[in-house]
Amino acid sequence: MKNIYYQAVGKEKEVFEKAFQNKLPFLLKGPTGTGKSRFVEYMAEKLGKKLLTVACHEETSSTDLIGRYIIKGTETVWLDGPLTKAVREGYIIYLDEIAEARPDVIVAIHPLTDHRRELYIDKLGETIKAHDDFMLVASFNPGYQRGFKELKPSTKQRFIAMSFNYPEEKTEQEILVNETGIDSDIAKKLVNIGTKIRNLTELGLSETVSTRLLVDAAKLIKAGLPKRLAVHVAVVEPLSDEPEIIEALQDLTNLLI
Ligand code: ADP
Repeated sequence: MKNIYYQAVGKEKEVFEKAFQNKLPFLLKGPTGTGKSRFVEYMAEKLGKKLLTVACHEETSSTDLIGRYIIKGTETVWLDGPLTKAVREGYIIYLDEIAEARPDVIVAIHPLTDHRRELYIDKLGETIKAHDDFMLVASFNPGYQRGFKELKPSTKQRFIAMSFNYPEEKTEQEILVNETGIDSDIAKKLVNIGTKIRNLTELGLSETVSTRLLVDAAKLIKAGLPKRLAVHVAVVEPLSDEPEIIEALQDLTNLLI
């Protein structure tokens, strides 16, 4: 199997490793598409641990994570949820966008995030101690972006935290080349488009160009789509629904590629 590719942008690998060794939960902060999930996948592979990922949304409850009774034939049987499985068997669990989940999820993870390292399963009346290799990792998109929920300061303080953002131009270029095999001069142009749009704060975009969008554009170009069309569908259209803004972005990107 091919090793997972992750390009470090700072000291995140070292920090994660030390957090794992010291049984500290890890919070990744930052906008979508900045490599948070990729980083966790990479670290799990590097540490040789199994990873379970849960994409949290507003309906995600502690029951979804901990487990439930299900009916099987004439019996009810208990089924561990991903968190319980991870706690019992020593997996790394990644709760992506944890702030989006229901408040009872935060309550459930609290005893796992301090010295107790235990999970209370109310439906079984059981408290389980976390396996030595269990690690809790969560991500959240800070509140400066519209439409995202906040995470309480008292919850944030339970984690080691690192911010993820758009990488420096050279690093981002390398990511595009590595991810897609595209020529480095095209990668450079795409990164330049990303940088220019990120600086256009006056457009009031709720989310700006992520590395993910640039990778998508690079993939389409590599697959033979004309460059401007690739940028239009992978970068411009996903960013805005307003015709004037789409046109302005299109004009700008056409000049750059
Ligand atoms: P997030 O979890 O922050 O939303 P992802 O981890 O899904 O973002 O990253 C989106 C895509 O961007 C990845 O699939 C990968 O192609 C690319 N990417 C972003 N940052 C990196 C990085 N540092 N190293 C390698 N790939 C990256």
